[in-house]
Amino acid sequence: MIITAVKVFLLQKQLTSSMHISRGGFSVRRHVIVEVHTDEGVTGLGEGVGNARLIKAILEEQMGQLSIGLNPFDIETLRHKLIDSQVYLERKGSAICAASAIEMACWDIKGKALNIPVYQLLGGLYQDKIEAYASDIYWEDDPADMSKNAIRIISKGFRTIKAHVGRKSPKLDIERVKILRESIGNDVNLMIDLNGGYSSLEAYQAAQLWEQFNLMWLEEPLDPNQVDALSDLRSRIRIPIAAGENEFRLHGFKELFDKNAVDIAMPDIARVGGIQETRNICNLAEAYGIPVSPHNFSSGILLAATIHLQASTPNTTLLEYDTSDNAIYEDLLIEPLKIEGGYVTVPSHPGLGVELRKDILERYAVK
Ligand SMILES: [Mg+2]
Repeated sequence: MIITAVKVFLLQKQLTSSMHISRGGFSVRRHVIVEVHTDEGVTGLGEGVGNARLIKAILEEQMGQLSIGLNPFDIETLRHKLIDSQVYLERKGSAICAASAIEMACWDIKGKALNIPVYQLLGGLYQDKIEAYASDIYWEDDPADMSKNAIRIISKGFRTIKAHVGRKSPKLDIERVKILRESIGNDVNLMIDLNGGYSSLEAYQAAQLWEQFNLMWLEEPLDPNQVDALSDLRSRIRIPIAAGENEFRLHGFKELFDKNAVDIAMPDIARVGGIQETRNICNLAEAYGIPVSPHNFSSGILLAATIHLQASTPNTTLLEYDTSDNAIYEDLLIEPLKIEGGYVTVPSHPGLGVELRKDILERYAVK
């Protein structure tokens, strides 16, 4: 079997209201999706997460052509050609996201061709139910709106939720953390995501002030480039630190681990280099004793890939599940996802179990 074409789709969903994080807001969600075609008629879907329009251009100008003629079963060969042999040009960034999309699609093709789910290609089924956490509660001008969102989410059965704060100083944003904890009670786990918006000093102050609210983790408190400062922060505070959604490849995570910068690693399959690279990161993290909760905040294709990875990888915890209803999400899954009591049942459809239906393309594809 060989790859004969790589089609690229840009899907876009206009939001009814803006979503705010520490670094600003966004009012549109974009997903760049590849459909990889083969000479045997089997096709596969994958996606790259980041600057969608830039990733689309890289796929069309470079990565698509590099993939033509390769056997989608030979994933290590594909990774070598798309990522390792491009290292003089691209070490991190959108090119790696583009390569991740094609790599993901090859797993989908392989699973479909062999008529088995992708988790069976990875390591076999380790867990058939995965605990999910609700992502995300966005920063709101009125803290009471965040509280309403939190109550809506836990009424769906989620026992762990994540909220974005950090648009204001730690002293001012404490009212948001406080109202969230009060509205969900002490039995629900609460994570706070700062999206790299604080300085070391602010993050330290936040950790001191907010520790009383029993946070499960503090996510990306600092700019992702400040690994030494993150490590120093972690040594001085008691709240666990999660980070990694803006890191690339195994090498990026090795630095985070070597420097003792994280308690929880968050690689994104659609950014780090694909499913195999994420599996390698999980293995490396295991050797360091660090659990992995993959970053998973895009379309239903990344959702499916993340479920297959977690289903087959022991050193993973908590599936990130987008409850905002703003992404092009469950519409892409062939089997509707079963979520009960905050646990997702792993689907057993061959490949990734996703499809790009015609009606979805008509509704969302950017012409
Ligand atoms: Mg995050």
